[in-house]
Amino acid sequence: MLRHLSLVVLAALLFTPALDSQAQVTAIRAGRLIDPETGTATTNQVILVEGGKFTAVGPAAGIAIPTGAEVIDLSDLTVLPGLVDAHNHLALTYKEDPESNVYYFTYVMDGTPLRAIQAASNGIQMLSAGFTVVRDMGNAGNYADAALRIAIEQGWIPGPTIINSGIIIGGMGGQFWPTPEMAREHTIVYPEYLDADTPDEIVKAVRQNALFGARVIKICVDCKPWGYTVEEIRLFIAEAAKAGMRVEGHVQTVDGARRAIEAGIWSIAHDVGLNDEMHKAMARRGVWRAGTETPLVLTGHTNPQRYERTVAGLRNAWQNKVPLTFSTDADYWVPGKTRGQVAIEFIETWKAAGIPAADILRAMTTNGYRVCELERRRGPIRPGLAADLIAVRGNPLDSIDALRGVVFVLKDGIVFKRDGVMTPERFFNGGPVNGWRIR
Ligand SMILES: [Zn+2]
Repeated sequence: MLRHLSLVVLAALLFTPALDSQAQVTAIRAGRLIDPETGTATTNQVILVEGGKFTAVGPAAGIAIPTGAEVIDLSDLTVLPGLVDAHNHLALTYKEDPESNVYYFTYVMDGTPLRAIQAASNGIQMLSAGFTVVRDMGNAGNYADAALRIAIEQGWIPGPTIINSGIIIGGMGGQFWPTPEMAREHTIVYPEYLDADTPDEIVKAVRQNALFGARVIKICVDCKPWGYTVEEIRLFIAEAAKAGMRVEGHVQTVDGARRAIEAGIWSIAHDVGLNDEMHKAMARRGVWRAGTETPLVLTGHTNPQRYERTVAGLRNAWQNKVPLTFSTDADYWVPGKTRGQVAIEFIETWKAAGIPAADILRAMTTNGYRVCELERRRGPIRPGLAADLIAVRGNPLDSIDALRGVVFVLKDGIVFKRDGVMTPERFFNGGPVNGWRIR
């Protein structure tokens, strides 16, 4: 009788449909757990997850694992919050063949629908490398970035949490010098840039991006010799604020940096306009630096002289206590590497700048959540926040290179990668399981 009963129980266990992830408790045993904010680690921790959120974190001795919980044993790994790339271009992939790495030609070759699919793939590649948040800073054709964000949030596909800029706003032509034919017809490079040369156009451009799904505003501060004035940048900031957005400036000159900082811009992309004086001003004003420091190993995307300046600039920024984010500007294909593997290569520049591992890790996590203003919802491994985490072998606080081997990824409480293998099937759905109203 007892034997029969246990068979019945076994059969029930085997044939009970899997419980919805939102209802089930997952318990993660972490051999080592890193808090990047303090740069410290604890051992033998247990993390409970329910309904896509962390519900408890603490020493194994103090946390009871509920019966029926799915237990994930990461006791021989180091667990830490997910990584952030504060400047990527998931919907742009230029390459040696046929464009000779000139992205002007990619705009001729690849339309928005294809680039949206490329973005979905690049997003999955970033997530697999441990990047649970990506700021996507434009050059996404006609809002492929917003499509990507919405598809991930609605629950169609896996991917990082996306903070996207929509179309980059600049004076006529944006970063480029279009031909009169392109400019008159608004073709070819025109999905890439929104023209805004007057105060009215600035307001309208910000509102258009807000309407079509941007989460941050990106402007060309000084792509043209005339650029934007302090007052114009302030108008961007004020208009973006109405929609709850911050403004990042693409800056390529010291004068542009000076104007952007004076206007009170949120973040500055690229390092070419940033010197010791600008770094001191950024530290004073709390302006985020997204320096996009390309490592020399990515052959063809920087050169030794430029790299030397980049390393020295990053070190100077760190010495001046500028708020630093980890940012890549990755928008190209390196054969043999995924987009995530390209992004993680950027730790080489940070190591070359002599920045301690704990500070590199803080830039890649805590500061990333802050520049995205996500830190109260997502990022830290803390009860009430979205359940995103990664695990690696070794200890990134000893050697930041440990981040090259992300073997486990949890996103919104769902396992995306385990034992080094992507297992994303629970992220694929035949409809907007999280709601079609998410825009
Ligand atoms: Zn960029």
